[in-house]
Amino acid sequence: MKQNTQCVHSGSYIDRTTGGINTPVFTSSSFEYMDAPENVYPRYFNTPNQKAIIEKFCALENAPDGLFFSSGMAAISTVMLALLGAGDHVVLQKDIYGGTHHFATAEFERFGIDYSFAPNDAAGIENAVRANTRIIYIETPSNPLLLITDIEAVARIARPRNILTVIDNTFATPINQNPLDMGIDIVIHSGTKYIGGHSDICCGAVVASRPLIAKIKAVAANLGGNLNAGTCYLIERSLKTLAIRVERQNRNALEIARRLEANPNIDRVYYPGLKSHPGFEVAARQMRAFGGMLSFELQDGKIEPSRFLKKLALIRPAISLGGVESIICAPVATSHAKLSAEQRAGLGITDRLLRLSVGIEDVQDLIADLEQALE
Ligand SMILES: *Cc1c(COP(=O)(O)O)cnc(C)c1O
Repeated sequence: MKQNTQCVHSGSYIDRTTGGINTPVFTSSSFEYMDAPENVYPRYFNTPNQKAIIEKFCALENAPDGLFFSSGMAAISTVMLALLGAGDHVVLQKDIYGGTHHFATAEFERFGIDYSFAPNDAAGIENAVRANTRIIYIETPSNPLLLITDIEAVARIARPRNILTVIDNTFATPINQNPLDMGIDIVIHSGTKYIGGHSDICCGAVVASRPLIAKIKAVAANLGGNLNAGTCYLIERSLKTLAIRVERQNRNALEIARRLEANPNIDRVYYPGLKSHPGFEVAARQMRAFGGMLSFELQDGKIEPSRFLKKLALIRPAISLGGVESIICAPVATSHAKLSAEQRAGLGITDRLLRLSVGIEDVQDLIADLEQALE
């Protein structure tokens, strides 16, 4: 099946009792065990509603197995704590989600886990590898500058050294990019973003080989970051429209990026679908389309960012991303607020940088809103 069909049909529970078309919400946290092949319990990640969304999502990521978590950070922290121990070293690309950056810097030391932040390019990552490196962790496109890391090049560095590769695929979604097909071992998503897609769910997902998921699942059952049946059902409903939403968001974002790039009040636009973007060629090779996220810098000294944000009428300044509605934020005040000014400068995140999460609205209305606020 192709992706739109997988979104609608993969993983659906066939309800023989009523013939209903949808997966029922199985509310039980207690299940009979005597004639069952395994003990079913929400924290074992094996209730029917948990299985339905995993099966659908694995189809989309072309993955053998997976897990859904109660947040993206639950997914990220569980993967790291499951696969790392005292004395191990992790290489993280330096442009990663602020929360992941904070997780590493705030928690790793207590567990005896060593880490390095490396430039996003394969050479920089290779240089940071040590004899005790267990994981290389990348994110592409990255937040908030939409930098592109060459996925196959990273896999080629890791494979011969027996280093596991982990990617945060949140910005791309499985509709635009399938990293397992490019040699990556573990794919993580903050499902709070495009997977949920309506700004009303917090969840995370991990997909990988069966043995890796078995290893992660054993630790996940101890850490307890599972989801309840009601949220699983909302995710299942959201996934049915994932491809159709993302396709529209891809188109809208490309159009807006081109318009902003031509606007004299904008200094710079970061969107991997623009030929001016340094990652354009790699992105064109490893992504089916360039996604719904873009960032731009208001012209220096001319437009005050908070004044611009208040002038927007349709696009609301709000935290998070990936919903059907377009929202905008200043990373300096949101995703990267926990970093020091020095750390932000090192990442190239200025006070004039704004990150736009493009929704599924009519693109003319979005462009009109941006242009009137710039005027
Ligand atoms: C939001 C986000 C996360 C964290 O996910 P939560 O669901 O907020 O825990 C991780 N990575 C990226 C790229 C994100 O945007």
